[in-house]
Parts: sequence; C-alpha cells; structure tokens
Amino acid sequence: NLTTRLASVIKNIRGQARLTEDNIQDALREVRMALLEADVALPVVKDFINDVKQKALGVEVLQSLTPGQAFIGVVHNELTALMGTTHVGINLATTPPAIILMAGLQGSGKTTSSGKLAKLLTEQMKKKVLLVSCDVYRPAAIEQLKTLASQLGVDFFPSTGEQKPLDIALAAQDYAKKHYHDVLIVDTAGRLGIDEVMMNEISELHRSLNPVETLFVVDAMQGQDAINTARAFNDTLPLTGIILTKLDGDSRGGAALSVRHVTGKPIKFIGVGEKLTGLEAFHPERMASRVLGMGDVLSLIEDAQRNVDHAEAARFADKIKKGKGFDLEDFKAQIQQMRKMGGISALMDKLPGAAGAAIPAGADEKAVNRIEGIINAMTPQERSKPEILKASRKRRIAAGAGVSVQEVNRLLKQFEQAQKMMKMMSKGGLSKMMRGMKG
Ligand code: GDP
Ligand code: MG
Repeated sequence: NLTTRLASVIKNIRGQARLTEDNIQDALREVRMALLEADVALPVVKDFINDVKQKALGVEVLQSLTPGQAFIGVVHNELTALMGTTHVGINLATTPPAIILMAGLQGSGKTTSSGKLAKLLTEQMKKKVLLVSCDVYRPAAIEQLKTLASQLGVDFFPSTGEQKPLDIALAAQDYAKKHYHDVLIVDTAGRLGIDEVMMNEISELHRSLNPVETLFVVDAMQGQDAINTARAFNDTLPLTGIILTKLDGDSRGGAALSVRHVTGKPIKFIGVGEKLTGLEAFHPERMASRVLGMGDVLSLIEDAQRNVDHAEAARFADKIKKGKGFDLEDFKAQIQQMRKMGGISALMDKLPGAAGAAIPAGADEKAVNRIEGIINAMTPQERSKPEILKASRKRRIAAGAGVSVQEVNRLLKQFEQAQKMMKMMSKGGLSKMMRGMKG
C-alpha cells in the first residue's frame, strides 16, 4: 500500500507535530519524480505538487500517526480525487436508441473499443446494440468494425467510402429506431494528429446526433502528448467520458492524470488488451497506486546511489530496467547491497523486484546470511548456470555451507522465482508486474 511505498522518503519527517515546508520537501520531490516517470504531463505535475503542498502545510499530525503517514494521506487523497474518486459507468438514460459517439486520434483504439463496448452492453446489460462506422477514409476501417460485429453476433449497419459520415450516421440512427435497438455505437475517423477537418466532422456528427455519450478514446502510451490531444478534443466536443486504452502495455498510466486534469471528465473504461474482452471499469484508487508505483523503485535506486558505489548502483538499475540475464552472482550482490541500504526488512517493503521475490516474506538477517553462505559455497560456473546443479553438487554445497540439501533446493527454487520476475519485468514492464503482485 501507499504508506509502505513511500516509507523511505518520509522516515525523516517522523516525530514532528505538524507538516511544514521543510519536513515534506524530500517527500514532495519523490512524488514529483514518480509522476514524471509515469509520463504525467509537466504542467499537471506542477499543479498537483502545488495542491498537495497547500493541502499538506499545517496539517496537524494526529497522535496515532507519524507525520509521514499524514503526508501520504494527503497525497493519496489528492491523487484519488484527481482521478475521480468513484467509478462512473456508461449512461444510457435517454429515449432509445442511446447514441454513443466515439472520438479520438487514429490508432487510439476507437474501433476496437466500439467492439468491446458492444460486447459489454450486449452480454452484461442485455442491450440490443447496433454498430456503425463513419470512417470513410480507410475502407479497411469499416471492414474492421464489420468483422468485430460478426464475431460478436451484434448488428452492423453497412457503410461505404463513397458516403458522407453524417449521412451514414443519420441513416443508422433511423435504422436503429425502426428496429428497436437500445444503443447505437458510432465509430468515427481519426487523424494522426489534431486536424481541423477531423474536428469539424466530429462536431457536425455531435450536433446532429445529440449523443448521450461522447467518449474520448486515448492511448495511454501517448504519454506527455495526451494532454494536448485531450485539450483539443475537450475544446471541440462536450465530452461525457474517456476510455484510456493500451494500459496492458508498459505505460504507467500517467496519461490518466493528464487527461483528467485537462478535461475534468470521468475515465469510464480502460483498455487492457487487443481482444474484445480487454475492457475494464476504471478504478481511480488503483490507478493512483499504479501512477505512483514506480516511486519506490526510483527511491530504491536513489538509496542505492547514496549507499553503494555508483557503478554498482547503475548496473543494478540497468538490470532492473532490462531484466537482463540475472544469475546467482547478481542475487548475492543484491543481498550485499541490501545490507548497506539499511537492512532487509526496510527493503522488503520497497523492492518489487527479484530479490524481493526471492527472499521469503518474514526473512530475517539470519536467514539471509544462510542464503549468502550457500551461494558462497558454489563455484562461479554454478552461480551463473544453476541448472547444472545435480544431486552430487548440491550435497557438496550443502556440506560446504553447513546446511541441509533441502535448504539448497529451497534457495534454488526461490532464485528461479526471482528469474521469472525479472523476465516479467523486461517483457510486460514493471507496472504489469506490480499489478500482478497486488492481485
Ligand atoms: P482506431 O484507429 O482509433 O479505430 O484504433 P483501432 O481500434 O483500430 O486500434 C489501433 C490498434 O491498437 C489496433 O492494433 C488495436 O488492436 C490496438 N488496441 C486497441 N485497444 C487496445 C488495448 O487496450 N490494448 C492493446 N494492447 N492494443 C489495443
Ligand atoms: Mg478505427
């Protein structure tokens, strides 16, 4: 949880009765770093940090809390508030057909999200849905939606590249009325960047259709740019909500904060995969944790830089980022660094990475000493290739370290776990792994 996550940066503000400019400075800087690292747009970070500072200054620290906990409380509240506090679902409260207009740049995920929404509305809300594409510029785009519709068994209103977007949409609306569809999802054309023709076209569609939902679809991987796109669409259209896509990738979700900040509109759904099942309700608290998530890794690296020599720290940071071949030698190096950084237990809370996974919860210094002893008893070759450790080698190592063979086996299993963790970090990104850990 957040309290443990920022534990290291706030430990220096213990034992004071009030949060002051002085005692929250380091913690503020840490939060700022975490937000920037998550790709939150700079102006948004600045505003947020100012807000948190104003809210935090003078906050009295309750007797039951440390000042650090009080500060975390402020950060957490502010971030969650900015994200929207509660989940807001889709609004269909209108005379049918309720029209959902999809807006966003090309490639943001409008067509895919149209299909996902159709699936959700059909299966979970038992609505009769009609899909239509107004993307007349790319024939493949209409075809793409048609394919999704047939996969889902949802009605599709055909269109061609020769028609005008507005004509298509009005004809579909008419058809939906006559055939008693509850919902009409209107997929539109995007552009690679903000473009006046696109904006005029989508405003015209909006004016004529009067949709109950105008959803801005935005790619979370867009990072810093998301703020400009969001501003342009929000200035042109009365948006009712946002779908943040591609959160299954490396993105830490900083775009969520930027987009919220600029539009003030609720993020209603997140896209978490290319498949039609990859649509989830947005939960502000989870996103707040995700956005702040890497702060602890950053602080870990910072700690490492303070306490161990710089070359070693850089190598360690590099390993974390790239998930490169991680062997028992590295494992041992990590354990030694952990010592220098103030003990195992302080680190367990902060380190989501390999060593954190490899050392069983509740491990104490003694257990770690034994692990180190076992690794010391191995030859360099065995450390870099643990798979060569068969029974006779294990017996020799156990004897050398003064432990049982079972204990050697346990360590190897834990190490294997750690390697898997490293692979996940390199493949799916840290955020994915951390989401996995929180279950
Ligand atoms: P459009 O141009 O806005 O209609 O975007 P598309 O719906 O065609 O999506 C563009 C690409 O992004 C496609 O390859 C989709 O499969 C992919 N995509 C859309 N949403 C997601 C998502 O949530 N996660 C992932 N990984 N890919 C997505
Ligand atoms: Mg499309």
